Amino acid sequence: MNSDSLKEILRNLSPENQQLLEIIGLNVLTKQIFDQSVRVGKNLPGPDKFEALTHGLDSSSKLKIAKRLIYWKQKTDQLNWTEQLGWQRSRQTSKFKSSVGEICEWPGCENTDHLTVDHRFPYSLGGDTDISNAQTLCRTCNLAKSNSIYSINQWPGE
Ligand SMILES: [Zn+2]
Repeated sequence: MNSDSLKEILRNLSPENQQLLEIIGLNVLTKQIFDQSVRVGKNLPGPDKFEALTHGLDSSSKLKIAKRLIYWKQKTDQLNWTEQLGWQRSRQTSKFKSSVGEICEWPGCENTDHLTVDHRFPYSLGGDTDISNAQTLCRTCNLAKSNSIYSINQWPGE
């Protein structure tokens, strides 16, 4: 496939799919910046570094990524702290489990069978077992999403 045919495909995407593509792009960049900084034991990048890493993005996307990084850093710190103390986090509470809705929330799915409640931001990455971090997914979409940050379609707070 040459770049012209790729551009053609992108031009012909439905607005919903263009939006999904944008979300995936933001997720990839968020993960790259997070991995570069926090995972190697450093803090989040300062303003100059952040500006360089997000060069070319519009201001609302930059703000979104900044908020996500702060959210993720806080959750990771919490995770390390409770693990050090030997505290167990709760994966399921009855309130969380009962928050399952009537339709799968994955864009374009609309399945109403085999619905489960899912951690919007993965539990394994520090996501809370809290209604604000809950979403309804069908079994298929839940499996497809797995624990990948790449497939989060909406971050908590967005
Ligand atoms: Zn689904």
